[in-house]
Amino acid sequence: MTTPPRDEAAGRVSPVTYTYDWYERFFERLLDDGYTPASYDEPLGDGDLVVRHDVDLSPAKALDVGRIEADLGIRSTFFFLLTNPLYNPFHRPNRRVIHELVEMGHDVGVHFSTHQYWGEDPGDEAIETRVAAEREVFGTAFTDPSPAVSFHRPPEWVLSREFDRFISTYERRFFADVQYVGDSSQRWRDAPPDVDGGPLQVLTHPGLWGTEDATFEERVEEATAYQFDRVERFVEDEFVHDRNTIGEYDHRGTASRGADEGRNGR
Ligand SMILES: [Zn+2]
Repeated sequence: MTTPPRDEAAGRVSPVTYTYDWYERFFERLLDDGYTPASYDEPLGDGDLVVRHDVDLSPAKALDVGRIEADLGIRSTFFFLLTNPLYNPFHRPNRRVIHELVEMGHDVGVHFSTHQYWGEDPGDEAIETRVAAEREVFGTAFTDPSPAVSFHRPPEWVLSREFDRFISTYERRFFADVQYVGDSSQRWRDAPPDVDGGPLQVLTHPGLWGTEDATFEERVEEATAYQFDRVERFVEDEFVHDRNTIGEYDHRGTASRGADEGRNGR
């Protein structure tokens, strides 16, 4: 996992490694080139750089990336996926991550998956209602969520579309009308993205990066193993060990169904 992936045809080490070192240098270079960090509140002009993160895999790595950027003086926006089965943004360790990002000066918001609700375009009203509901839930734990929302694996019908009740990171002014570069599926592996000095949106997925280089598949595996381990420890602590079982409901002969399940069949 620590060996840099190689370009098999040329036998050379790939020019881009998905490491925090490379990540930091990449953003350092953008700043050296004259880019200034911007947000979704304002229209982007030449030299404006809006930095966005879709947190699909790893809140822990969002924190790593947030620290790197804060040290560089970059304020970015982290979008969390409420509807994913891999991590729960409201689980305490993840809430801490989100609060820390806010304390560093970053914005946080909702990464919205249309796929969880619809197979095709349900129309503005349905989208706006559902997005508003997720933003409201997110806002119960994290004050002032970003007015911007990013769509997870955006279907064609949300691209370059504007909504009344929220800002979309795929509106023309942040997407079609500017330079837009993203690290999805580690697609920068063969070459770093070219930027031309015009308004720029950069999307990164924190879960794809790490201290050592690793392939996309390895990162997914790594993040999954991390979360599975957390689930296992949680279940052990809260449901399995006697000290924490809901023993008060487990009276002899009248054991509740929940307690039985918690004891793994006993
Ligand atoms: Zn996503």
